[in-house]
Amino acid sequence: MPLPSFLHRWWPSLLTALRAALSVLIDERCPMCGRSEFKGEICPSCWFNIPYTHLRGASGNMLERLFWSEPMVQRVSAYAWYKPEYAISKVVHEFKYYGRKDLAQLMGEAMGRELLDSDFFEGVNALVPVPLSAQRLRKRGYNQSEHLAKGVAQATGLPLLTTAIARVVDNPSQTTLDPSQRRDNVRDIFAVVDADALAGRHIVVIDDVITVGATLLSLLQTLRPVPHLRVSLLALCAAGRYHVGRLSPDDLHLSDATADAQNHVVRKYHKP
Ligand SMILES: [Zn+2]
Repeated sequence: MPLPSFLHRWWPSLLTALRAALSVLIDERCPMCGRSEFKGEICPSCWFNIPYTHLRGASGNMLERLFWSEPMVQRVSAYAWYKPEYAISKVVHEFKYYGRKDLAQLMGEAMGRELLDSDFFEGVNALVPVPLSAQRLRKRGYNQSEHLAKGVAQATGLPLLTTAIARVVDNPSQTTLDPSQRRDNVRDIFAVVDADALAGRHIVVIDDVITVGATLLSLLQTLRPVPHLRVSLLALCAAGRYHVGRLSPDDLHLSDATADAQNHVVRKYHKP
């Protein structure tokens, strides 16, 4: 017998709420290794074993190169490498699908703190979480990137800006798509709602996982008309295989950063 339509609509949020309630009541395990007695917190040995990128927001790092086609981009960094088999993927899963907003905020705080002794946040005016569509927000009940951003705000003291950009299309999940399909999937999914709040400012856009950068590149393209906007990008995880050189420049939507990009864009990255 098919589910009544109202139940069908609310089923995912009911499951999420139920799972969240249960995890508070009975789930005492570390979300990464599953060992008990850690009250749902990440245990010390899992903190130790996170596959840190060690990029630490360094200028010109390999992740930043994904975004060299967009001159407004200042810095790009990610806290940890991501593969489905890495334990960190369980944390992402928990805060994305099972209501663990606390874990998103905790990780946000860690990724903000890691950059405090670098110049990553210098001159930054606000933190902007990648928005969810209204539809997805209703389903999930929260935006996981906003909770990551709250953690970064706690570590840095920077204000959150959540009203300047909207996601106007609820694009399907990216997980089964190849890089070129991903680009088509995310075209024109964002809109600038409050250009005045962005003009002339330097924002750090906060995301959960960067894969081939398609979503963020789409967002950057939407932001192009905003005058004198500078954007840095900070993600909890970087999942692409670019760090082992297996994606071609074309896969990354960069014709050839060193040969074709405008000189003034790449100049500052040239090292002797
Ligand atoms: Zn653990």
